[in-house]
Amino acid sequence: MRFRRLKLSGFKSFVEPAELRIEPGLTGVVGPNGCGKSNLLEAIRWVMGESSPKSLRGGGMEDVIFAGTATRPPRDFAEVILSAHDSAGEELEVVRRIERGAGSAYRINGRDARQKDVALVFADAATGAHSPALVSQGRIAAVINARPAERRAMLEEAAGIAGLHVRRRDAEQK
Ligand code: ATP
Ligand code: MG
Repeated sequence: MRFRRLKLSGFKSFVEPAELRIEPGLTGVVGPNGCGKSNLLEAIRWVMGESSPKSLRGGGMEDVIFAGTATRPPRDFAEVILSAHDSAGEELEVVRRIERGAGSAYRINGRDARQKDVALVFADAATGAHSPALVSQGRIAAVINARPAERRAMLEEAAGIAGLHVRRRDAEQK
């Protein structure tokens, strides 16, 4: 899978619609403290189905919506669109949108989808919201300080078997 484009609107500090083209050769995003570098990475995790507000540095999921500043009113919604080529080279577009009081909604290639559909799209490609390829600021220390069960979950993700757990949970619910 190859990510191609990230569009954000009302997500955290990205109040105005913004687009990041992820082209071959992109190796870094630089900018002063607080300019939104980590928010970009969190937007990628969020659109891939992240369900823990805490791992997005928030208290509740609505904290990802632009909260307003002294000069700008808050927004009512946040939306992130991730465009990619999937492992078969096909176009993939995943949209996640959250509205105040209404929760999150997902779309995959224009169709309504559930969080677990989105999680499955990414689970097998080792690109999930918690994949070892997405290491948040402070995460190295978290691995070192984790309890054994937590560390095991991280290692399973790294070994690429987390997708199997998603499927097993899915099967157990049926
Ligand atoms: P550093 O170099 O310190 O790691 P960074 O570039 O990673 O900085 P971020 O942590 O991505 O910066 O951005 C932090 C900024 O995002 C802060 O100014 C914070 O106020 C703003 N921010 C986070 N959530 C929201 C929100 N819901 N609404 C408005 N602004 C937000
Ligand atoms: Mg940061």
